[in-house]
Amino acid sequence: MARLTPASPAASRARAVVRRLTAAYPDAVISLRYGAPWELLVSVILSAQCTDARVNEVTPRLFARFPTPEAVLGGTQAELEELVRPTGFYRNKARSIRGAAEHLLEHHDGQVPRTTRELTRVPGAGRKTAAVVLGEAFGIAEGIAVDTHCGRLSRRLGLTAETDPVRAERDLMVVVAQRHWIAWTHLLIAHGRAVCRSRVPRCNSCVLLDICPEGRARTAVKRH
Ligand code: SF4
Repeated sequence: MARLTPASPAASRARAVVRRLTAAYPDAVISLRYGAPWELLVSVILSAQCTDARVNEVTPRLFARFPTPEAVLGGTQAELEELVRPTGFYRNKARSIRGAAEHLLEHHDGQVPRTTRELTRVPGAGRKTAAVVLGEAFGIAEGIAVDTHCGRLSRRLGLTAETDPVRAERDLMVVVAQRHWIAWTHLLIAHGRAVCRSRVPRCNSCVLLDICPEGRARTAVKRH
């Protein structure tokens, strides 16, 4: 793949992607439901290997019982596990939530920190979690949250060749303008769910077809 720079063809393609997908999905926002930053942090931890819809079913009861890090430490691990069980991997997730609560109380007076460096030290939180929490809770764009949709579409659009989310994020931070970093994830998730599906992308009805290397290859193959 050609070297990526803010002036490369990939960067101008990324600008077109933002323009067209913003027009196609003007209401694209995060689908996790939360109130305080702590709730968002917990929701993102729970969303690993789980749909946002399932997380949203679980969190009202969870947040009513454990509205703060202090409340988590005042409860039992078993109770926490039971509440998050429907999201899968519940033992690990409950352990991460408890670890996060301890970490926030020990290092941040129980508050969610506002930098990637600090957030990625919270148990259960990697760069994706940090990007989502900073972007959504505080409006801070320090990175791009690369989930499965965002990674797949970015590769199909020729904006990265990386399958590792952290490496893909590094490429995207070069070609996507920083003012679009927060929206980028939501736009690609919306398009990934509606059109650019994992197994059978609907290239012929895609607003990005003329600028998408993967789409052009797929439709050219079909024409022959
Ligand atoms: S043209 Fe096809 S592969 Fe490219 S973004 Fe659209 S649906 Fe996805």
